[in-house]
Amino acid sequence: MSRRSKKLAGSIKGTAVTLLCHCANKLALKCILMLFITFPSLASSNDTSMKNQVNAYANLAHAVLYEWNYPSKHSNEEILLKLHQSDIQSDESDISVVFRHTMALSNVQHKNTPRLPIVIKRALLEKHWQTLKEFNIRVYAALRGYYIYIKGINDYQGSLKRLSATIPALDDLKQELLLSGDTKAIAIATLWLAIEYSDSSPIRAIQEYENALPYLPIDKFDNKLEMEFDQQGVHYLLADSYLDLNIPSKAAYHTRMQISLKKKLGTLDTSDFTLAVSALNRLSKFTEALELLKEANSIEPSQKNFKSVYIDMLRMSIYASRLAEGDRERLLEISSRIINSSADIPSFSLDVIPTATAIYTAIKGSDEEFMAAILAYEDAINEKLMTVPYKKKALLGKFLALKHIYEVRGDAENAFLYQEKYREMIVNYHDEKFQLSASNKLNMLSRDIELAKYRQKELATLQKENTGLAGDKEKLRTTVFALITIICSILTTWLWIAKRKSDTKADTDSLTGALTRRAMLKQLKSLLKKHPASCLALIDIDHFKRINDKYGHAVGDEVLNTFSQTIRKRIRKSDLLCRYGGEEFLIYFENSSEQEVKSVLDELNYAFSRVAHWEHTDKAFTVSFSSGVVALNGSISSESVIKICDELLYKAKNSGRSRVESTTLAHA
Ligand code: GH3
Ligand code: MG
Ligand code: MG
Repeated sequence: MSRRSKKLAGSIKGTAVTLLCHCANKLALKCILMLFITFPSLASSNDTSMKNQVNAYANLAHAVLYEWNYPSKHSNEEILLKLHQSDIQSDESDISVVFRHTMALSNVQHKNTPRLPIVIKRALLEKHWQTLKEFNIRVYAALRGYYIYIKGINDYQGSLKRLSATIPALDDLKQELLLSGDTKAIAIATLWLAIEYSDSSPIRAIQEYENALPYLPIDKFDNKLEMEFDQQGVHYLLADSYLDLNIPSKAAYHTRMQISLKKKLGTLDTSDFTLAVSALNRLSKFTEALELLKEANSIEPSQKNFKSVYIDMLRMSIYASRLAEGDRERLLEISSRIINSSADIPSFSLDVIPTATAIYTAIKGSDEEFMAAILAYEDAINEKLMTVPYKKKALLGKFLALKHIYEVRGDAENAFLYQEKYREMIVNYHDEKFQLSASNKLNMLSRDIELAKYRQKELATLQKENTGLAGDKEKLRTTVFALITIICSILTTWLWIAKRKSDTKADTDSLTGALTRRAMLKQLKSLLKKHPASCLALIDIDHFKRINDKYGHAVGDEVLNTFSQTIRKRIRKSDLLCRYGGEEFLIYFENSSEQEVKSVLDELNYAFSRVAHWEHTDKAFTVSFSSGVVALNGSISSESVIKICDELLYKAKNSGRSRVESTTLAHA
């Protein structure tokens, strides 16, 4: 399961941030995980039993799909040799067709890097898949899931649009396997589905992960392909998803589970502690986080000389989040140790030194030195942003890191600025994820409600656990505040988008009852021909974004609704009101002059200036709007009229808002 490795790879973090994602592509960092897994012995030529043959091919496929071209314990030459030794290319069995096709498909992603010389002679047919299924249903589930995924990646050239194809296909695979009753195979297909959901609807992903979890093994696998689907890995993915949704208590639980399982198996590595520390930081459980690091210190890590730097980075994140007495001194000591370390920094962690330098100068540097360090840090992150696919996530990490760095500096104003940037961005981030899954909106809504419940519980626990903690009140208030803002903004935005999505097919907008843009444009064509002396007014609520930001989307919606109702009451039956965009409306005034329309609009603006009380908030405020009015004088296309309206509206906005700019077109 490639996503896990992506996350594992992205696990060396600066400051309290663990959102930074260092991976190069979904598969690329598989390698980090692979470093610690020994290469399986592939099939020997005299191994004739089918069962062994499938396992041998599964091991080979694992190396080809997950290790080829990625830094791993096995060089490309070794993998190539294994490919030749396997004789798969001369095998004419149905099973070999499936494996070869899948491996060939994975080649497509290697654009500027070497490809494996895989030959496909026959077309891949359903019956080939079914033969594999008969022999080994789990390998079938793992391979077919990968096939669907990589085909999506190739067909859609890496764009998230692939989800519209991969999710239904993986869902079908899961349904197909459900009929078999093989719980492990079902769990494998479910995981593939979850992985794809994690890019569109995190809550759905979590549900699928949790569905699969109990049926997955911890150890004992017949081959490497199956091994990709173990419980420890899923705990990690769950922790990451919960953290993504800002539900750190659940994330902490899953990291605990992951760590204890890996400890039992002796496969624990320093990187396994990253998410755990991040979750505990967010819960303000700093002592527990520091305790955990002691454990991290005692294990044998994979990259020995980087281990101490790694742990120091985590420790730095704890102190930077806590900032208790003596923590600045500790940060100074740790950051200078990192700066002076002679360890080889892996290429995916090139921001480690700049982060440490920023922290160091935040405490000790002059303003110039600090600014220089901030710039260097931003440069490093920006450079990294160029290479990671999850730019939003990495950018989120940057904002959060800067918030902490400024906090360490004692610069509350800038710390707040970055906290706000982070907040705004997280809303957009979730918006985008949500928009991708419009087809699932009904399901999503019920899950969102569930999410709200989780978050509320989270808040309650946080408040309970922190009461009585002397001196921490201020901090608690900020944390609780941040959490509440995030809860509100994410949820309302989701609900709001879902509602808007459902409007697209109808002629009227469900929130405001106004015509949709499409419906309006359709009618305008003939109306403008029939009534060439009519007027069009494009109006836009002033500073509407502030209303949403200050009072929430629910209040924003109420304003939109009231706005629309008031206009509809005032205009005539023959006029039309359309919601042209978010808070932009287009009104058609039949057979009206510029003056008449202007006075109606002025009147409306006056009417709005008297509405100050709203149902969804106790705060009083009024709204105004700006408009651009065009009186027609002969027929002209609606598109060009609207364009002129838009220019006038722009002018009205620029000359102070709450006003009408108008013109009467010369006779056509
Ligand atoms: P200006 O005075 O320049 O028009 O500033 P503005 O803030 O009104 O303009 P901007 O276009 O920046 O912001 C419009 C906002 O309207 C952004 C978007 O989030 C919000 N919005 C759009 N549709 C809806 C909706 O259906 N409900 C809510 N609550 N907000 C919406
Ligand atoms: Mg506006
Ligand atoms: Mg606008």
